[in-house]
Amino acid sequence: MTIKNQPLKKIITYCFLFVSFSVNAQNKAPIYLQPLGKVNTFTLQKVKQSVEQFYKRRCIIKPMVSLSPDILADGKTRYEAGRILRKYRSVQNLLIITEQDIATKKDNVKEWGIFGLGYRPGKTCVISTFRLKRKVGREKFIERLNKVAIHEIGHNCGLNHCTSGDLHCLMNDAKGTIKQVDEEQMKFCANCMRLLK
Ligand SMILES: [Zn+2]
Ligand SMILES: [Zn+2]
Repeated sequence: MTIKNQPLKKIITYCFLFVSFSVNAQNKAPIYLQPLGKVNTFTLQKVKQSVEQFYKRRCIIKPMVSLSPDILADGKTRYEAGRILRKYRSVQNLLIITEQDIATKKDNVKEWGIFGLGYRPGKTCVISTFRLKRKVGREKFIERLNKVAIHEIGHNCGLNHCTSGDLHCLMNDAKGTIKQVDEEQMKFCANCMRLLK
């Protein structure tokens, strides 16, 4: 009787494990990482790891999609972040990453170079490695990129820019300066954490 029952017990245990895994995966939808144009594999892996660690969600790297002229900014030298978001707007959580320079319209400046842009709230955001690489080694560059990724996903989750005055919070407005990004730590302040949906 004991021998007969053992496999059954195992099956029941496995079923239970499967059910609990499914429920967990359902609660936390994965975040897809979409390379736009060629993106370094090491860079993609680092962003994936960082997003998974911070948001406790799976991050799945998608096959690359090609850059195309329709998402270029009017000056035709860089890409327009808003056009990228509109073109690839997703119903799943999508973090688009490109090595090309991206810009958006800001006040009177037609093409204001940015690190990233995301819907708030929404499911799609875009980040660029272009402005984060300057004058720094790979480690610092990856740190900056991870911060920008977490910031833009934060917007997707409904977070606005941080107003708590904590300059170490990742949700501060970088205002186009890398100095602010470097000032931040890999965390949200207590207020942003509370607002995170
Ligand atoms: Zn904050
Ligand atoms: Zn922002």
